[in-house]
Formats: sequence, structure tokens, C-alpha cells
Amino acid sequence: TYIIAEPCVDVLDKACVEECPVDCIYEGDRMLYIQPDECVDCGACEPVCPVEAIFYEDDVPDEWEPYVSANADFFDDL
Ligand code: SF4
Repeated sequence: TYIIAEPCVDVLDKACVEECPVDCIYEGDRMLYIQPDECVDCGACEPVCPVEAIFYEDDVPDEWEPYVSANADFFDDL
């Protein structure tokens, strides 16, 4: 799955939402989240993010690693 990290916080540009072919990017209070079970790893969202907040899960910078579980946990809480 791809995940969304800290640069999205309080930005929520949503360019990614337009690109996602399976509509698996959802809006939270302060950032967007990718539903990991729905993401088909197409990569379409990553280059359109104006703040470079989107990463393939294995490429998430160490400092933002907590966002991998944060994306998944957002959906557990719904
Ligand atoms: Fe959607 Fe593709 Fe991005 Fe996954 S990688 S969130 S399927 S646009």
C-alpha cells in the first residue's frame, strides 16, 4: 500500500483523491488517509501530491514511519 505522511497535515490538497482509480483516499480532520486494504499500489497519487506526502510503504522516511500504522488505524476507528 501507499501511505500518506506528515506533509499532508493541515494541507489536504486532495489532488491525490482525483487520481485514485479505486477511491481509497479518505479525508480525516487534519490529513488524508489511504485505506491499505483498498489501495492497488498503482502509484498514481504519489507524483501529484504538491507537498510530497505520499510514499510506497517500504519507502517511507524513518521519521514518518508511524504514519504507516496511522493510515491503517484511521480505518479501524471508523
Ligand atoms: Fe489510490 Fe493508486 Fe494511490 Fe493506492 S497508489 S492510494 S490505489 S492512487
